[in-house]
Amino acid sequence: LFISFEGIDGSGKSTQARLLADSLRAAGRDVVLTREPGGSPGAEDIRRLVLEGDPDRWSAETELLLFTAARRDHLEKTIRPALDRGAVVITDRFADSTRMYQGISRGDLRGMVDQLHAMMIGMEPDLTFLIDIAPEVGLARALGRNTAEQRFEDMGLALQTQMRTGFLALAAGAPRFCVIDGAGAPGAVAADVLARALARLGA
Ligand code: C5P
Repeated sequence: LFISFEGIDGSGKSTQARLLADSLRAAGRDVVLTREPGGSPGAEDIRRLVLEGDPDRWSAETELLLFTAARRDHLEKTIRPALDRGAVVITDRFADSTRMYQGISRGDLRGMVDQLHAMMIGMEPDLTFLIDIAPEVGLARALGRNTAEQRFEDMGLALQTQMRTGFLALAAGAPRFCVIDGAGAPGAVAADVLARALARLGA
């Protein structure tokens, strides 16, 4: 089973991915918890190339190619082998993040995103949790973290709002999505996520 977590910056998706992994492991499942950009040694190297240093180093198109290369490596080296041995794979972000971030944040590259996905990735998660949060809340949380990835968080409220709308539209168009209200306490959100995951797992 392949599960992804998606959401705007500060939505709490990383925390929720970790809590779901903990719960499923406690229930005896083999779980691989991973993340994007990154999730394999090569993809983590690409993550550093894209997220650290001069934000204007890469054009929007080059950045999309780098994210796609990172995802391809993640798929080859981490996700496929884990799924093949029967593990549950939980990833903090997958292709939906590229549909949003590379697809709309630096101009409209949505067509190119879809073509590259079809050519190089060609698969979707079985289940995608969209952790939905008001952009004001997400932005405040993200800025509070003050990470090396500040440049993405500098995108500001207008773009966060556009992203949230875009994620909700993606979710409305595909049954693999499960939209979770991310406003509550982490434990309460996690309980909601776990119940939905177990329902999908048929447990
Ligand atoms: O999820 P995480 O906080 O690790 O993501 C790091 C940064 O990379 C975020 O600020 C996000 O905006 C950015 N990102 C991106 N394109 C992606 C995935 C993440 O610009 N496809």
